[in-house]
Amino acid sequence: MKSITFNQLQLRLFLALFILFTTSVFSYRYFIELPKLEQSIAKLSEREIDTLRFSVSNKLDILSRTNFDYAVWTSTYHFVNSHDESYFEENIVDNTFVSMEFDGIFYLDKNLKPVLAKGLHHTELNELKFSFYDFEKFPSNLSMLPTAITGHGAPNKSGFIQTKYGPAMFSATQIRDSDMNGENRGFLVMVQLLEQKFVDDLSQDTFTKIEFEPLPNEADLRQLYDWDKKPNEIKIEAYRDMVLRDALGRPITMLRMTHSTGKVPTLINVQSITFIILTSFLIYIVYLTVSLTIIEPVKKLAGDIKARDNLNKYKPLDEQYMVTELATVSKNVNDLMLTVQEQNDILSQQASTDQLTKILNRRGLITEIERHKKLCIRNNIGFTVVMSDIDNFKAYNDSVGHLEGDIALYEVAQVLRKQCKRNGDTCARYGGEEFTLLFSHLNDESLDKKLNNIIDAMKELGLPHPASVTADHITISLGAVVIKPSDVVDFDLPLTEIFRIADSALYQAKNSGRNCFVIKNWSQIKQNS
Ligand code: GH3
Ligand code: MG
Ligand code: MG
Repeated sequence: MKSITFNQLQLRLFLALFILFTTSVFSYRYFIELPKLEQSIAKLSEREIDTLRFSVSNKLDILSRTNFDYAVWTSTYHFVNSHDESYFEENIVDNTFVSMEFDGIFYLDKNLKPVLAKGLHHTELNELKFSFYDFEKFPSNLSMLPTAITGHGAPNKSGFIQTKYGPAMFSATQIRDSDMNGENRGFLVMVQLLEQKFVDDLSQDTFTKIEFEPLPNEADLRQLYDWDKKPNEIKIEAYRDMVLRDALGRPITMLRMTHSTGKVPTLINVQSITFIILTSFLIYIVYLTVSLTIIEPVKKLAGDIKARDNLNKYKPLDEQYMVTELATVSKNVNDLMLTVQEQNDILSQQASTDQLTKILNRRGLITEIERHKKLCIRNNIGFTVVMSDIDNFKAYNDSVGHLEGDIALYEVAQVLRKQCKRNGDTCARYGGEEFTLLFSHLNDESLDKKLNNIIDAMKELGLPHPASVTADHITISLGAVVIKPSDVVDFDLPLTEIFRIADSALYQAKNSGRNCFVIKNWSQIKQNS
């Protein structure tokens, strides 16, 4: 599996959260909030339409009531027959138009001939000469009249009509005596012009803006609502046009209602964007917190562990972490590193220790000589390499056995090691019954003394050697090579050359009768060669 960095993981998580969150917000808005809002806006529009219908009916009712009161009144009943002008002068004065808010009153006899007709603009108070009641000229206007009856009752009809002064409301009632009986004496008609005040009143009643609108063409007109018919389904619209028709269904005028809320809110609006920005900010804060408390410390821990890997040496990791688990990981890694380091130390010690004599083996010896070479080159500290070889050891083995030979090797090694007490002095088994001693900076006198001490120490050890031709105890021969800082030319101090010179000194010691030492100086050898 391809691994990703913490930063990538963090970024992906953040993006995933952001996408999830915005999708949830918009889904909630699209599937739940907006449909609900749409429903309530439609309901509100419906209520506004209902109020308009009610308000228009109310206006018709008011006119009808006034009309009815005048039509079903004994004085009116008599007036139509008697034409008694005092009735008119007393009851239908200019002020009557103003207070009753009608603009025309028409008394028709039973033959529908006008007994009396008066038009007066109830606000401007100028005379109006209506002609709609000239039924010979406008026979279709007969439809505005109710059917006269002879029995009890006073039929009334109200609605809208087109007049030469524009659209108007009308109310027509059969003229009856006060007890709603008597012979048919004709009709009383009242009209009220539909002017600005009409729509102003409707606006006030409905809390919406109502205006007159010019009538559209026939085709468009057919799609519009009639003011008094309740629409089956209310769609959300900014405004709605409604037609007022006369008694024959002909359009008179059109009202436009501007709904208080005529628009469905958009999916993405200022609120939703602000909400998303605010919540994204919150997600970012969470992201930062997680980053500071977990991600960054984990990255630091990973970096520290890697740095330790390159360091190749045990150095404990910081164990101070806010998150307990990280502190535990850090502590466990420290423990693990310590164990590995200890095992490494044991292994490297084992790798450079001779199993039989428990002193350095040749590998360890070479490392030490290299170290002395560096000290010599860099710090001008000279050193001496001494090759030592047990005399007549083959014969020793042959006489006392290999097992005893091994013990003797061990004992000799311990004696030699004791001679290397100073810091920087080393004793190693070169191989077989040969040992190498390494002394850091000894002057000629000290070196002589040291080598003599070794010979003496062997005597002191006093391991009997029955087959020796040299002495009755185990003896060793020594060949030393002294290297001084001045001997280092061009940093050239080959190891093989060091051993070769030490070996030749040893060879000389052997040839000089054994149990003795020969010292050679690197510089002399190099001069001679
Ligand atoms: P010289 O005085 O010339 O050094 O004579 P030498 O007999 O010591 O020399 P030589 O090289 O002929 O013999 C070395 C002997 O050391 C041979 C071998 O049996 C013995 N030897 C080498 N390694 C071991 C060991 O690990 N244990 C025992 N017991 N003997 C060993
Ligand atoms: Mg040997
Ligand atoms: Mg030997």
